[in-house]
Amino acid sequence: MMKVVGVIGGGAAGLCAARHILASPGLCPVVWEKAQQVGGTWVYTPQTGTDQHGLPIHSSMYENLKTNLPKELMGFPDYPFPTDEEDSFIHHTKVLKYLERYAEHFNLKPHIKFGHNVELVKPSVNDSKTSWEVTVVDLATQTSITTVCDAVIVCNGHYSVPRIPEVKDIEKYKGKQIHSHDYREPSPYKDARVVVLGASASGLDISLELAAVAKEVILSHNLPIKISSALPPNVRQVRGVVAAKEDGFIFADGSSAQADVIMYCTGYDYTFPFLAQECGIKVENNIVQPLYKHIVNTTHPTMGFIGIPFQVCPFLLFDFQVQYFVKYLSGDMTLPSKKEMDHAVVTEMGEHSSKGIALRHYHRLEQQQWLYNDDLASLAGLPYLPPVVGHLHNALRVIRKNHLMTYKTSCFKITGPESFEKSGSILRGSTERHCDSGVDSGVAERHSDTPTFPEITWHSRQTLPQITF
Ligand code: FAD
Repeated sequence: MMKVVGVIGGGAAGLCAARHILASPGLCPVVWEKAQQVGGTWVYTPQTGTDQHGLPIHSSMYENLKTNLPKELMGFPDYPFPTDEEDSFIHHTKVLKYLERYAEHFNLKPHIKFGHNVELVKPSVNDSKTSWEVTVVDLATQTSITTVCDAVIVCNGHYSVPRIPEVKDIEKYKGKQIHSHDYREPSPYKDARVVVLGASASGLDISLELAAVAKEVILSHNLPIKISSALPPNVRQVRGVVAAKEDGFIFADGSSAQADVIMYCTGYDYTFPFLAQECGIKVENNIVQPLYKHIVNTTHPTMGFIGIPFQVCPFLLFDFQVQYFVKYLSGDMTLPSKKEMDHAVVTEMGEHSSKGIALRHYHRLEQQQWLYNDDLASLAGLPYLPPVVGHLHNALRVIRKNHLMTYKTSCFKITGPESFEKSGSILRGSTERHCDSGVDSGVAERHSDTPTFPEITWHSRQTLPQITF
């Protein structure tokens, strides 16, 4: 008998899940997507707040966004981005088009119920077998339907529910407060003095957009060192906000600034409002647990989560996560016992803490993502990624760090399993660390009370079967 696998969400992760479920004999996907189209985050809307059904707007996409990863690192391993486009950093509309083509290529749309909002997911245990009752609302008719599934894959995305920090005395502040989730384009900030709080991907990108129109952008962050790249002349860096005043903010370095707006680029919370308590999933301190390999609900292992890790190449990682989990669902691979999985999670968290990394960054994989992908590949008997993927990613980190204002004009071309070209120069292995010295790079100025920026480490790879590009 076919096993029904319910998939929550039709963004990149949900599409990838549907694609591999379909390819697995004995499994059949049902995807619920509350929007009327695939793409999730990549479906731009100028709207903010709530939609026509009263649901919060999902996408945090802004009008001018170009990807912060080159398309050469963004495609799924079995469906690369088209190479007829020379640019590597592409407009968000092109990523949406790519996902639409992916859905068409693998004939996924007949398996997606659009305009269906998942409201409740509940395990039902019978003779030690868990099935899942998934209750969804058809938004057009407001009718509620419950489907019983053999497994559930949660792909609801994690860049939707703004995280807003507590700022002392914020109630005194008379200016405008906005989270990057609601940022769409820079014109409302013309001639304004804007404090951008947070210097991760969105904070940096939005600061550069705002600088073109704003009077001043005050980039407030607690990164260990100041951004070393050149920045527009009207952007200045200060430490984190410690308190608000009526007309501005006080920062941890003792400075203060008047500001018309504070833009919170402070990230997003993991939320699963549809999971019944019996699912056994908790979110605490930015950790979703208990998840084995950041995927498997150890209490009910037929529930998996795709896309929890961050600071990764998402589509590549989704593909490994999905294939690993689908191998388990199809019976081609077994999982350890609950006790062993829980022990592995606790051990991993312990290792994480012993490196001095805050536990709230437990799901931040960064350079660990390659070992993580390789681990899933080896357990599930999948081909490994070619080394060029890690090489290119390492090169990007260096280029981005030194050339924040211009890195998106770089063009990359993968020329072999170990090599790629950047605007004409062929780069191999770790030599790319030296490929982009000088030009507009500024001098790194350290915050005096903090450690140095960690060195990029390069993990060695064995000769293993590889996906060829
Ligand atoms: P989403 O794309 O968020 O999809 C989740 C889907 O689930 C949505 O369609 C939503 O409608 C649906 N859903 C949620 N809850 C329910 C429910 N209860 N019932 C039914 N449906 C539901 N990644 C890159 O690789 N490169 C980049 O340059 C890049 N830039 C980014 C810029 C911004 C501003 C943001 C926010 C993210 C960026 N990302 C980038 C990360 C991006 O989020 C991932 O690439 C990826 O698209 C996430 O896919 P997902 O499927 O996990 O989530």
